[in-house]
Amino acid sequence: MMISSTMNAKLNDQITAEFAASHKYLAMACALERMGLKNMKTRFLKQHEEEHEHAMKIVRFVEEVGGNVVLDAIPKPPTEFKSALAVAESAVNWEVEITRKIHDIVSLAISEKDYTTQSFMTWFVDEQVEEVSTMTDILNWVRLAGENLLQADAMVRHSMGES
Ligand code: MG
Repeated sequence: MMISSTMNAKLNDQITAEFAASHKYLAMACALERMGLKNMKTRFLKQHEEEHEHAMKIVRFVEEVGGNVVLDAIPKPPTEFKSALAVAESAVNWEVEITRKIHDIVSLAISEKDYTTQSFMTWFVDEQVEEVSTMTDILNWVRLAGENLLQADAMVRHSMGES
């Protein structure tokens, strides 16, 4: 095995965190659908799929380095969101938390001189910059829109056209 058992366990935790993120974004997408915010819903559904891919990327990595993938239960996502603002705030907080977890893995890799995992995690470090930035944009649009949420929804549609 090319990684330590401590690192293996930490990567397994991250697999669960990414699946939890996927699950949570789906719950958010459903809440946005109920609110009639179709473009935000589409954006969060895309995020739901991306988080699933993140989890699978780590699954494949753990297998490639001869580790042992152990899956854990995925926590139940929130079922009710008070508002689009609550959804967007929750998304930003979540991405900040995920970023911290990714950085923790990199810290462990550095301390263990595990250059394999350190190199693999670079993609995730970069990806988190984008995730926090995207979700912060959405939060700002929702805040600026105030009562006029269709405007925030239109901004999200516009941003999806760009990417
Ligand atoms: Mg992710």
